Order: sequence, then C-alpha cells, then structure tokens
Amino acid sequence: METEARNQTGGASEDAGGAARKTPPPKWQLADVIDVIAETPETTTLRIAVPEPTEFTPGQYYNIRIPVEGRPRPIQRAYSIASSPFPKFDVVEFGIKEMEGGLVSPVLAKQTKVGDKLEVRGPYGAFTWTQEMGGPLLLISAGSGVVPFMSMIRYARAKNVSVPMHLLFSSKSSEFVIYSRELEELEKSLDWLTVTHTFTREPGHPAARFHRRIDKEMVAELLAESQAKIGYICGPPEMVELCEIVLVDLGLDPKNVYSEKYD
Ligand SMILES: Cc1cc2nc3c(=O)[nH]c(=O)nc-3n(C[C@H](O)[C@H](O)[C@H](O)COP(=O)(O)OP(=O)(O)OC[C@H]3O[C@@H](n4cnc5c(N)ncnc54)[C@H](O)[C@@H]3O)c2cc1C
Repeated sequence: METEARNQTGGASEDAGGAARKTPPPKWQLADVIDVIAETPETTTLRIAVPEPTEFTPGQYYNIRIPVEGRPRPIQRAYSIASSPFPKFDVVEFGIKEMEGGLVSPVLAKQTKVGDKLEVRGPYGAFTWTQEMGGPLLLISAGSGVVPFMSMIRYARAKNVSVPMHLLFSSKSSEFVIYSRELEELEKSLDWLTVTHTFTREPGHPAARFHRRIDKEMVAELLAESQAKIGYICGPPEMVELCEIVLVDLGLDPKNVYSEKYD
C-alpha cells in the first residue's frame, strides 16, 4: 500500500518524497501559532503561519518537534495537514489529539497558546489526493485520522471540484467528533459529499448510522453505496490494516487503496 510514514525519522515517505522532489528538501522553520481552537475534549486545532512555506498536496503532513525535559534532543512527531493548500498554503492547520501519557501531543493539544512558536518541517508524504485522480472516493477514518480528509474535502470545495466523496468516520461518541459542525454544514451544502458516522461508545445516538467499530460489513455496505473506485484509510494501524484487506477483497484495485497509519 502507499504510505507508511515513520514518526521519528520521517521514514519512507520522507525519503521517497525527497528523491522525487524538484525543490530542496524541507528544513526546520520556526512558525507562529496564530489560532488555537478546542475541537473536542481531547483534540485541538492549531493554525500556524509558516515563514517559508512550500506548496503541499491534500493528505500530506508536517513534522513538529518540541523540547522535552530530560531528553537531550527535541522530540519529533508527524501531524497531517487539515487545511487546503488552495488558495493559501502559508497558513497550515493541524488537528492534534492528546494521547494520554504521550510526550508531544499533550503539549501541543493542551498547552500551546496563540503567540507561541513551533519548530516545523514539511510537507511530506504520498498519502495524497488531487482532482486529477478523480473518484468516487471512500474515505475511512477513526479519531484524528479524519484530519487529512478534511484537507481533501476543503481543497475540493475551494477548487469547486465535484468528485463524489463518502467519509466514514468512527468516533467514541458525539462529543468526540472532530469538525462535527463543519462536517454537518459541508454535507448540507455540497451534493458530492456524504458523511457517515459510527460511534463506538454511544449506542443508539441518532447522529450515527452505525454504533460499533468499523468492520467488514460496514465497509462493504458503504463501498456498494458510494460506488467508490478509490479508497483512502487513515487512523490506528489495526483499523487501517483491516480496511486495506477488506477493500481489496471487495474488488478495489490495490493500486487504488491508499493508507496512512498513525502509529
Ligand atoms: C503520517 C502521520 C500523521 C499523523 N497525523 C496525526 C494527526 O493529524 N493528528 C494526531 O493527533 N496524530 C497524528 N499522528 C500521530 C502522531 O504523530 C503521534 O504519534 C501522536 O500524537 C502521539 O505522540 P506522543 O508523543 O504524544 O505520544 P508518544 O510519546 O509517542 O506515546 C504514544 C503512546 O504510547 C504510550 N507510551 C509511550 N511510551 C511507553 C512505554 N514505554 N510503555 C508503554 N506505553 C508507552 C503513551 O502513554 C502514549 O499513549 C500522525 C502520525 C503519522 C505517522
């Protein structure tokens, strides 16, 4: 499958991207935090202004590194870009979920303020979509795995592209749905976008069509409904691996199944 970025090193996609890139490889830059928005009890949107931005493709990510007490060097993690590169790519938005006990995400999600500076480097990654690739698309995400799909959806809207997209989004409960209001408004206003929620810990809630973890039957139902020719999967490794197998079993060409694991 397509992308398996590694956190500390930047990994395979950094190397692949670097080799193919015509522009010089990204360098560390000090970006200003210009907006901090609490999306859910555990996820925060950070908007940063990048001093020397490189145009990115929806689905790509940046590395962010921060100093951590007791560590000799800053600790780096990968974060997908949530914003559209069009019309502007100098302001980049991230959606960061606090992982309890983690070294980096609690600082970014809970302690970062407007006016802070963050060390960032990017963009990286081959988990991308642009209008030339067409569709229809089935986008499968759990938790913060929705972030790169927001970039794709926002980009398609900004470019006025009406490729059918069906987003399957798994969250613990209604309170934990990242971009809840925006997704609702986008679905109402865009006839090419369908959003299907599944809630794993809120049985019977009407905002969700399913009330269980993503499984083969759910994916099969939505693949048939959406008539998708291209599948994108993003989130925890187990969910991603399951869906990769399921989409190919259900007949998608493996070349048209893209995945990003948040490990
Ligand atoms: C390409 C890519 C894009 C990504 N995009 C996003 C994104 O858009 N949004 C997002 O929120 N995340 C994203 N991630 C995940 C992100 O990079 C981090 O992995 C995540 O934020 C956790 O980092 P952390 O430093 O907080 O946790 P870590 O310090 O890495 O710890 C992770 C977990 O392991 C546990 N742990 C750590 N050490 C031990 C130990 N010794 N024993 C037992 N348990 C331990 C911690 O308690 C924690 O729960 C992405 C990952 C990739 C690869």
